[in-house]
Amino acid sequence: MNGLGELYQQLIIDHNRHPRNFGSLEDATETASGDNPLCGDRITLYLRVKDDVIEEIRFEGSGCAISQASASLMTTAVRGKKAAEALDLFRAFHAMVTDPGQTAPDAGRLGKLAAFAGVRAFPARVKCANLPWHTLRAALQANGRAVSTE
Ligand code: ZN
Repeated sequence: MNGLGELYQQLIIDHNRHPRNFGSLEDATETASGDNPLCGDRITLYLRVKDDVIEEIRFEGSGCAISQASASLMTTAVRGKKAAEALDLFRAFHAMVTDPGQTAPDAGRLGKLAAFAGVRAFPARVKCANLPWHTLRAALQANGRAVSTE
């Protein structure tokens, strides 16, 4: 693996060990839960959305390093963004990890989220990385609906 890959791996390990924005949110306006039964990953998201802006976002969850690090990095990426911008980022992330035509991640747009580009080679892991994002979409589009990767 090249140097960039190692850097990305460290980022995922760090966010798994020290998840950002972990915990519940007392004054959440939207919540959603997601689960990936194939791996045993679970995510619950709490958002406070005001005037269409994600003012605050937290998550609780358990599961593999990829799923938890993805949730941690996602919450840092979408905080302060408009809901539509967050959904754009969802689409960019989803394309990065699933679209075989995308040979290089759009690092300018995805930032640290590009750390997950490598999971595309591992279909089972793609679900782990995508779980927090599917849960986010559920929270923004259909409050309280539980999502599953299966
Ligand atoms: Zn997993």
